[in-house]
Amino acid sequence: MRCYDCLQEARTDTEGIGVCSRCGLATCENHAHVRQVHISHPAGLGRTYGARAARRVVCRTCDLAETTH
Ligand SMILES: [Zn+2]
Ligand SMILES: [Zn+2]
Repeated sequence: MRCYDCLQEARTDTEGIGVCSRCGLATCENHAHVRQVHISHPAGLGRTYGARAARRVVCRTCDLAETTH
């Protein structure tokens, strides 16, 4: 599995470590951003958050697109 961002940069010495949860492309250790996300659950009138954080992998491109305004 090759990292898509590395392919764009013509790098072939890296190995993909995961798949971006946004675009679905493979991403490597250098380009991946692993985020902790708290999943909300509907609970009666309000919402409650799980005690444990979930994990989500996004590639650099999607991370920038989501965090740059
Ligand atoms: Zn990469
Ligand atoms: Zn992505």
